[in-house]
Amino acid sequence: MNQRPSHLFYQGRQRRPVLDQARGVYMWDVDGKRYLDGSSGAMVCNIGHSNENVLEAMRRQMEKSTFGYRLHFETEASEKLAAKTAALCPEGLNRVFFVSGGSEAVESAMKLARQYAIAVGKDSRWKIISRAPSYHGCTLGALAITSYDPLTKPFEPMMQAMPKIPAPRAYLDGLDPEDEATGHHYADMLEAQILAEGPDTVLAFIVEPVGGASTGALPPPKGYMERVQEICRKYDVLLILDEVMTGAGRTGKFLACEHWDLQPDIIVMSKGFAAGYVPLGAMAAHERLVEAVLDAGGFLHGYTYAGNPLACAAGVAVIEEIERQGLVQNSATMGAKLMDRLEGLMQRYPIIGDVRGMGLLTAFEFMADRKTKAPLPAHLKAFDRFVNIAYDNGLIVYSRRTRNGVEGDHIIVAPPMIVTEGHLDEITQMLDTSLA
Ligand code: PMP
Repeated sequence: MNQRPSHLFYQGRQRRPVLDQARGVYMWDVDGKRYLDGSSGAMVCNIGHSNENVLEAMRRQMEKSTFGYRLHFETEASEKLAAKTAALCPEGLNRVFFVSGGSEAVESAMKLARQYAIAVGKDSRWKIISRAPSYHGCTLGALAITSYDPLTKPFEPMMQAMPKIPAPRAYLDGLDPEDEATGHHYADMLEAQILAEGPDTVLAFIVEPVGGASTGALPPPKGYMERVQEICRKYDVLLILDEVMTGAGRTGKFLACEHWDLQPDIIVMSKGFAAGYVPLGAMAAHERLVEAVLDAGGFLHGYTYAGNPLACAAGVAVIEEIERQGLVQNSATMGAKLMDRLEGLMQRYPIIGDVRGMGLLTAFEFMADRKTKAPLPAHLKAFDRFVNIAYDNGLIVYSRRTRNGVEGDHIIVAPPMIVTEGHLDEITQMLDTSLA
């Protein structure tokens, strides 16, 4: 990648190509090179790029109004999106609060949970237990419940890091993820942690139903999510599902919680919810929580740009496209086919130590040794290098370190949910060339 000067800075010094156009599953840079978007950006562009119906809905809204401050006006678009969202959530989660991204949605959930506890006289409850590793966002609040050392450790003096339990990684611990005893083994760590903290101090447990950036598309072991919910209920601890990455069809259901028929207290969404057309996120909360907070005087939280009509109009159109094209089903069908292809690559490339996923959220992990699960030496930065090789071959994938950000290399493959088998063939071919 070249080193041209720029006033922009994101993470490192490395520069990326300059994006020109994007259509469907493809993107072109200003030099005319074509890329297949094999990770939907960062699991965002679930319905593909430049969907004409979404663009048209946005144009129509822009002609009417682009901004109305949420404390001054409600809008047709925000009312409609809230109703659509509530209808797609588990029963009772029928109050929706809009934000502009995943971190904001997580912050909102943390603050709603706390205000609810105060409203019902449980002021002693403030700890939010989460998992290690995990990723819930980059703001200081969301970082406090995130565990990914390079991102969290430098900021610990500035925030109150919350208690963590190990994320279930059966494949590293030599346990069978299909055995319910494995799920219970990990879930019971939550109970132990609640007891160690003192149940009267524990406000909530937050969990990504399928681990995203931190553990690399890792589904929970059998029985885990159901047991976690049971434990939360037993100790009156709120269950918050972070569906920022898994929501909007990514795992083969509209919400991942449908796989286990869960009844959480709060769900947060973003990414695929607006599919990259606008910055948008949502917190759907149980009416019991919201009513208590409103009775106690109101929710002391909100962002200026949140719930603006343009974002909400795009959000409505995205959900309508997901429904019209049957993309949730396609995510399940194509996801299963993609997993087969990744398993095929694993048979041919010993460097792949594990393949996993759910729907079109899939990943493979590099290992030095499949038996011992030893990661590749960290200094090789395989997670980064593979992305660059794939880029050169015209495929965009998403990579991170698997083991708390320190070592381990996983590559997430999560193309837009509009993919066909032909696209999967192309992806497999480019992965094959890049692995070789
Ligand atoms: N939660 C999860 C599970 C995520 O994957 C992310 C983003 N990777 C976030 C929260 C934060 O979202 P955002 O980057 O939009 O703030």
